[in-house]
Amino acid sequence: MEEIRLKIRVFGDQVLRRRAKAVKKFTPAHARILSQMSQIMYDSQGVGLAAPQVGISETMIVVDAGSGLYKLINPRIVKRKGTQVLEEGCLSVPGVCLQIKRAKEIVVLAWDENGKAIKIEAQDLLACVIQHEIDHLRGRLIVDYASALERLKIKRRLTALRKKSNEELFESEAKSCQLQL
Ligand code: ZN
Repeated sequence: MEEIRLKIRVFGDQVLRRRAKAVKKFTPAHARILSQMSQIMYDSQGVGLAAPQVGISETMIVVDAGSGLYKLINPRIVKRKGTQVLEEGCLSVPGVCLQIKRAKEIVVLAWDENGKAIKIEAQDLLACVIQHEIDHLRGRLIVDYASALERLKIKRRLTALRKKSNEELFESEAKSCQLQL
């Protein structure tokens, strides 16, 4: 079977703004996408990646915030507690670092890659990463948390950056923020 080559989509690509569709039936094709996504995440030194970030508008994410790899299908937050502010970057928004306020603890329901229903109780960094990735599934990006003025500046810079190739982009911009998701 022919292997699709996925690559990271960057700001300006419409797929990042689309609301992803729920996965009704998990297939071997989904499993292959998830393993490619994990590879791309690790290769880019990221701690999370959502399917729309590689052009797939379906509700799947991969996360590894240091406590192992999670591949989550149709993740849903059912409980939030407390708040935390962390500095976040995004593989799809190169060179941008923003302080973002999110819940400190969350409870997430999802399927794992065997189609089994799982429940994750996440705190701190892991909770932050999962919330960031679930935002992607709804077409929401970190820039949406910035002020209007900040957003305008970011947009101008990213428009200039779009003339570069992906490789150039990541080399020159991606390392400016510690947390890439
Ligand atoms: Zn992101």
